Amino acid sequence: MDSQPKRWEPARASGAPAALPPLTTLLARGARNRCPVCDGGPVFQGFLRVVPECAQCHTPLGRLRADDAPPYFTIFIVGHLLVPVIFWVEKAYEPPMWLHMAVWLPLFAVISTLLLRPIKGATVGLMLRLGLLTPEDEMPLPAPLPPAPLPAAPPHEGKPHG
Ligand SMILES: [Zn+2]
Repeated sequence: MDSQPKRWEPARASGAPAALPPLTTLLARGARNRCPVCDGGPVFQGFLRVVPECAQCHTPLGRLRADDAPPYFTIFIVGHLLVPVIFWVEKAYEPPMWLHMAVWLPLFAVISTLLLRPIKGATVGLMLRLGLLTPEDEMPLPAPLPPAPLPAAPPHEGKPHG
């Protein structure tokens, strides 16, 4: 079968041994913002943007496009952490609804924000294990393509010469 997604081979990108680390290692390193393969370079530049490739072992981390998976996992985990507590508090103390809202909504927001980055890092590790790399020719162009800002409206820009 040739329908398998193209797998990135770690041996090709570096002198490292061919096998990836075990899944738990991949997840833990990613969650700590370390390259899942080599534990060297960071996974993120900025808060959630994944580096194009590992600074140390050149694994193409930017081709692991997690999309909606990290927020999905985050909501799933935070919901399962908090909802039982909410039910328990309601059952035990029956606080007014405004107090529920005032406490749980900010708490959801804060915990989700704190967990999103490690969960996205771990997702990158999981996708590496699963071989879910976007083929190079399907990658979108890098966002800051022109380093200099374009002029607002060129008055008489003719057709490209050639
Ligand atoms: Zn690396």
